[in-house]
Amino acid sequence: MNYDVIVIGGGHAGIEASLASARMGAKTLLLTILVEQIGASSCNPAIGGLAKGHLVKELDALGGEMGLCTDATGIQFRILNESKGPAVRGSRAQIDMDRYRIYMRDIMLKTPNLDIKQEMVESLIVEDGEAKGVITQLAQEYRASKIIITAGTFLNGVIHIGETQLSAGRQGEFASIELSKSWRELGFDIGRLKTGTCARVDGTTIDFSQMEEQGGDENPIPFSFRTDRKTFNPVQLPCMVAYTNSSTHNVIESNFYRAPLFSGQIDGIGPRYCPSIEDKVNRFRDRDRHQIFIEPQTLEANEFYLNGMSTSLPTDVQLDMIHSMAGMENAKIVRYGYAIEYDFIQPTELRHTLETKKIKNLYCAGQVNGTTGYEEAAAQGFMAGVNAVLNLRGEEPFVLRRDEAYIGVLIDDLVTKGTKEPYRMFTSRAEYRLLLREDNAHIRLSHYGYKFGLLSDEFYTQVANQKEALDEAVEFMKSNSETPTKEFLQILDSLGEVKINDRTFWIDIIGRGEFDRAKLVKLLPEFDKYSDEVIDQILIEAKYSRYIEKQHYQILKMEDMLRIKIPADFVYRTVSGLSNEIVEKLELHTPTTLHGASQISGVTPSALEIIHIYIKMAQKSNKG
Ligand SMILES: Cc1cc2nc3c(=O)[nH]c(=O)nc-3n(C[C@H](O)[C@H](O)[C@H](O)COP(=O)(O)OP(=O)(O)OC[C@H]3O[C@@H](n4cnc5c(N)ncnc54)[C@H](O)[C@@H]3O)c2cc1C
Repeated sequence: MNYDVIVIGGGHAGIEASLASARMGAKTLLLTILVEQIGASSCNPAIGGLAKGHLVKELDALGGEMGLCTDATGIQFRILNESKGPAVRGSRAQIDMDRYRIYMRDIMLKTPNLDIKQEMVESLIVEDGEAKGVITQLAQEYRASKIIITAGTFLNGVIHIGETQLSAGRQGEFASIELSKSWRELGFDIGRLKTGTCARVDGTTIDFSQMEEQGGDENPIPFSFRTDRKTFNPVQLPCMVAYTNSSTHNVIESNFYRAPLFSGQIDGIGPRYCPSIEDKVNRFRDRDRHQIFIEPQTLEANEFYLNGMSTSLPTDVQLDMIHSMAGMENAKIVRYGYAIEYDFIQPTELRHTLETKKIKNLYCAGQVNGTTGYEEAAAQGFMAGVNAVLNLRGEEPFVLRRDEAYIGVLIDDLVTKGTKEPYRMFTSRAEYRLLLREDNAHIRLSHYGYKFGLLSDEFYTQVANQKEALDEAVEFMKSNSETPTKEFLQILDSLGEVKINDRTFWIDIIGRGEFDRAKLVKLLPEFDKYSDEVIDQILIEAKYSRYIEKQHYQILKMEDMLRIKIPADFVYRTVSGLSNEIVEKLELHTPTTLHGASQISGVTPSALEIIHIYIKMAQKSNKG
């Protein structure tokens, strides 16, 4: 059987890859181990979060499905960092993990040009350096012009629970061993990574009265720009907050010797910023408690996820440590926590299109590229799907720049720097984060989605109108000003705004104040014609305008700075303000220029600035 595109794996990357490909008109086949598990949440039942929310919004603005599915199946919506600036706010939703899977399966089954088959791929057919097809466990051969591997944690997956080791891709699901062999035989640089998950508990055995409640937002905001904000009215279930205590820590500590993480049983490197509970107890010995969020997994079944308690300790230890927490004394574990090790491809093997450099027409996306997280996976899957189709048509590749999107930062970081640990997105990875906000993702990116035929005329016209209105308003505010006449100062005073002393541009009057729609149209009645969405954007743009200009200037300065040479005898450990992680990496790679340092994963722009200052100080004292 011949297809244009074959996608291997129905996880978050595989979903977006196959939907994008089929929706762009390519005859697409999704091969996955279990159809019920399409869109499964291997770990926590939540989408978004800091920086991850940005990825979902960008994906949505491009025509991806994750945001729409989250809006349809979410059970608690919250904006994180609400009190901070719009650039670092992150949308997060608790999802009903069962409904999420069903929604995705249903959408995919209904998508024209997309066939779905429950079959495990065992090998890749490669001829003359080009991927041509796959062979499955049922000895079926499928041929295609493009193959996209999105096999997640399944490639040679090994699960650890205490001393027990099992071959699995997720608990209860087959590992993908033959495909991993086939992949390795192609000569790729393949490594091992590790991640983990917590136990799930029977809700009827938890005493919630002993815990704190954390509700969703009063006015929840949908993820998707295509969901109607006015009628959006999701269920808002609470999450509960519990705490570990000294007994919990004693139980864990006295069983360190049985922890696969410390006994040498696990080789793969895990996500440092998402440590297991045994790792937290070991690393943060001064902490007398850790917060654990007790999160509902689904509306229909009373099963809860213990966010913050990922572990691979033996089953009896898991039970003891859970029982030691207030409200959990009688808790029954439904599923035990575990760690999993799996193969990943060093992403420097890939081009920016996510096609492998060695084998033409073979793409990799998601966890297999060394990332962690549903959102990172989905974003890559989409980009691989779109690029596979564009290449098929002989069109220009679709590569997002670092100043255009977090997705651009993600892929650029991966393919230029590679990774040694599971890569997750952080706002600090983006140099241009004032430009790359969640709230303006549709304005930044929807023209691409529309060009690829992934967004409707109606939606795109709406976005284009919004953008035009915003540009008009910003242009007005930047080119018009007001003088501090008695009358004007009185108006400002009546609005509770500080007075101006000199002629001031509107962008600054609005930007430095605390405006909402009502106050804004009192000052600028002509702005009343704009919709609420446009007014929100105007207020944010005004707030950020001068910073954005500064950021552009800093970008130019940064380009100059990157040319600076780092002396061979430079001692990173003496630089205050650098994290241990950054120091270790710099010592390992010994870059010769700041540009070289910037290419090392995890070395942030602010770290570069600090090093730059130290280099300048050293030069001065040498001269002096
Ligand atoms: C135990 C565990 C804990 C995790 N903890 C976290 C966490 O704390 N935070 C976080 O952000 N992320 C976590 N993750 C990672 C998160 O689940 C992944 O990042 C995300 O699911 C990756 O999406 P993906 O599409 O790349 O792969 P997956 O969601 O893993 O999907 C892979 C798909 O490929 C299919 N497949 C595999 N091999 C084959 C084959 N040979 N033929 C056909 N189909 C195949 C599988 O059936 C599956 O559908 C965890 C994952 C696991 C397993």
